[in-house]
Amino acid sequence: MEPLQVLKQYFGYTSFRPGQAEVIQTLLEKRDCLAIMPTGAGKSLCFQIPALLLPGITLIVSPLISLMKDQVDSLVNQQIPATYINSQCTFEEAKQRFGAIRAGRVKLVYVSPERLQNEFFTSFMQTIPVSMLVIDEAHCVSQWGHDFRPSYRAVREWIQVLPQRPVIGAFTATATEKVKKDMMTLLGLQKERIFIGGFDRPNLYFRVVSNGDKMAFVLSYLGRHADESGIIYAATRKEVDRIFMELRRRGCKVGRYHAGMSDEDRRTTQEKFTYDKVSVIVATNAFGMGIDKSNVRFIIHYQMPKNIESYYQEAGRAGRDGAPGECILLFGRQDIMIQKYLIEMSVHNPEQQEKELSMLNRMVEYCEGRHCLRHYILSYFGEQPEWQRCEKCGNCDQETVQEDRTQEVRSICLC
Ligand code: ADP
Ligand code: MG
Repeated sequence: MEPLQVLKQYFGYTSFRPGQAEVIQTLLEKRDCLAIMPTGAGKSLCFQIPALLLPGITLIVSPLISLMKDQVDSLVNQQIPATYINSQCTFEEAKQRFGAIRAGRVKLVYVSPERLQNEFFTSFMQTIPVSMLVIDEAHCVSQWGHDFRPSYRAVREWIQVLPQRPVIGAFTATATEKVKKDMMTLLGLQKERIFIGGFDRPNLYFRVVSNGDKMAFVLSYLGRHADESGIIYAATRKEVDRIFMELRRRGCKVGRYHAGMSDEDRRTTQEKFTYDKVSVIVATNAFGMGIDKSNVRFIIHYQMPKNIESYYQEAGRAGRDGAPGECILLFGRQDIMIQKYLIEMSVHNPEQQEKELSMLNRMVEYCEGRHCLRHYILSYFGEQPEWQRCEKCGNCDQETVQEDRTQEVRSICLC
């Protein structure tokens, strides 16, 4: 079967997204591959489809046990022969799953990195044809990434104990040079092809609104987008609390989420949002990891985040269903001070601090420039668009430019 046919038949989609077909082809040719694509770009399909087409099984190393069950359940729902083995399986479950793998009834096996240190598991895998090894969230192998997991370091040696080396696919959304190098060496990729791409999200409209009254903007925006799902990100817990109270006082029905709340409260908020009981959440960047809500229509940043990576990851949570989404950054000069302060408080290594400050500078440049916002982001991530202006971001689109200038003028008059 052809990859496109698998896409249609098993996943019910009609076409590949940018980059997917190329990554799939590379893995099918048994060539190692490092794919750096943003959150929501559709990395899972890039290994799930070859897994179905290659002989034997594919082992997927994935860091979040909490997500493994959901992922596998949804695959099984789509008639895809997948399973997982982790510390949450009972002995009976594990035994039954090993049996199914041995019998060739399973194509995709999800495991945590720690599982590779389990002797029984390793000797079992030595007796099974493993065609492909997938390292999902591969940046976890690097100390320069944001969720370093020492057990990812064991992958490289583990591969060597297999009777036949499988093809290796590493996937991540983190694109910094240091992390990239670490992934290639620490995972032991060989003659790998590197894909950086699929970063464009054509259905998202980007826009920066400068020097306006932020609260007035949000109130008017929420008024015009009642019942749409959205997230308002703020830089600190205190700001989240303040914005949340203010919006509530003004009669907006919003939820809130930050790491200072109890587990219970956070879970309730997340559930309410997932099931559309509350449409707007005011949150710090703690909100979002692991949330797979596809119909988020807008992301408003009440303050500028610390770098383009964080911004794009958070903004990228809009429009995962492919329908239009709006990503608005409310920028004020004082945001720069806040982020500088946060970096200085949290990073003590001078070299690292300098690096973060230069990333912050790029973020400021995004906010202050008159360039095409989409072009700026894509070139930041190493893509080279063939066009200079997208004609559909806040800086390209004349109507929005006019509207924002009027707002600038208005806010200057008010002062
Ligand atoms: P990532 O791992 O890159 O963050 P996922 O693999 O979780 O992204 O995919 C995000 C969403 O995009 C999922 O809901 C997935 O079903 C959807 N998706 C992936 N590829 C396609 C495609 N070719 N057409 C339509 N939807 C897709
Ligand atoms: Mg993923």
